[in-house]
Formats: sequence, structure tokens, C-alpha cells
Amino acid sequence: MTHLFSKEERLKKLCAQLKVCTQCGLHNSRINAICGEGNVHARFFFIAQAPGETEDVAGSMFLGPTGKVLDELMAEIDLERSSVYMTNLIKCRLPKNRKPKTEEKNSCGKYLLREIEIVKPEFLIPLGYHATKFILTRYCRENILSSDFVGKLIYCSTQKIYPLRHPSAALYNPLIKQAMSLDFRKISVFRKPCKWYPTCPMKKYFEKGWLDKKWVELYCKGDWASCKRYQLEENGQYHPDRMLPDGSLLNGLK
Ligand code: SF4
Repeated sequence: MTHLFSKEERLKKLCAQLKVCTQCGLHNSRINAICGEGNVHARFFFIAQAPGETEDVAGSMFLGPTGKVLDELMAEIDLERSSVYMTNLIKCRLPKNRKPKTEEKNSCGKYLLREIEIVKPEFLIPLGYHATKFILTRYCRENILSSDFVGKLIYCSTQKIYPLRHPSAALYNPLIKQAMSLDFRKISVFRKPCKWYPTCPMKKYFEKGWLDKKWVELYCKGDWASCKRYQLEENGQYHPDRMLPDGSLLNGLK
């Protein structure tokens, strides 16, 4: 559907509503409600939990020590803030950085879902427990949250989701930074499709309607570095045409 208004205009309107929002009690203690920032045409859409004190005062996203960790992680893969979209699940500061309440997530989450609808990113990247739980519950329609999802690409309701730890975790536990960095680097893989896709049997099977789209989205246009076919191809090892990206065999083919 073509909209009369551009993405920029629609987000600006949403931001104006957000700035004066009084739907939950957090408006009483905030200085600024923080709108999403970045590239409105981005493929990567980061979702943090909520603004901290520095962000609340300055009226902008990811400043202070947490912003520094995020900038370091992004610099490792040459990813610039201007090429991604960033927003929060909760748009106003949580007093004493307490956990968000269910009613706050429900009322504020509506703004987040509108932003996703407008930006239409290819990858949603929720950061930390609350943003991940909200997104998985919304898109996967079941409570499937576990730490196993961190750093793993998921495909639910035609949306690719890549949950990561929140950058603030590195401030509390510096040992975790290395694992965060490894998970973050996977975003580099997502930047381009698998080099074997044009000649891969999976492309042919998908185009003939024999293969579920999830395989193409999760591997060929997602995490191709984890594809068993890709790994065997790179090592020059035999693999049957009907081998799926996870190493299992596609049934029903002659
Ligand atoms: S199935 Fe694997 S090797 Fe083939 S295009 Fe997809 S990611 Fe690449």
C-alpha cells in the first residue's frame, strides 16, 4: 500500500504524539520522551529497553557509558548510527532504572509497533530481556523466550529477529563484552546474501514452491555463515542437492 505521507513525515507525527503522551505514569517523572532516531529506510532496527538519565536530560538515544559500548560494538563492524534505526521499547525514563511494568510495556509498545510498521526493517534487533520478550511475544505469538535466543536469527510472522544482549550488560560484567562482540559481528553476515545463492539448489526449490521461505530468509538472506551447505561448499566437500541449510534432508524430492 502506498502512503500519502513519507516515512519521515509519519515518524515525525508519531514523535509529536509521543512527546506529549500521558498514557502511563512515567510521564510524571520524565524530562523528555525519546523518539526513535536514525535511518528511516534502515534494514537493521535496534530496540533498547528505555532511556537512562543522560538520555532523558539530553532528549536523545544511546548517550553516556551505554552509548559508548554500543558505538564500540558498531565500530568493530563499520556500522554507523546513520545507517540503522534505533528506538526504545519504553520511551520515558524508568525511575531509578527499575524494570518496566506490564502496563507500561503495553501502552508504550504501541508506539514501537507503529515505528516498525512505518520503517519496515528487514531485521529487528531487540537488545536485552524486556525488548526481546516483547518482540518475540508479538511476532512469535508464544512465550518462547530463553537465553538460547541471544545471538540466534529467528523468523516469525515473516519477520527476521536477531535478539542481542543490551550494551549496558558490558558495564555490569566486562567479561561478557567478548561474547557480545561475537554476536554483534554476525550483523556483518546479514549485510549481504550468501554468495552461493544464485546457483544453490535451495533457490531453485524455493522458486518452484518446494521449499518454505523460512530457509531462504534464515540462511540464504540471513545467517549464511551458519549454513551446513555453505560450510561444506567452502571446504569443497560433497553434499546432496536436497540437503537443507541445517544439514537435514528435504523429503519428497526425487
Ligand atoms: S542454502 Fe546455504 S549455501 Fe545455499 S544459498 Fe542458502 S546459505 Fe548459501
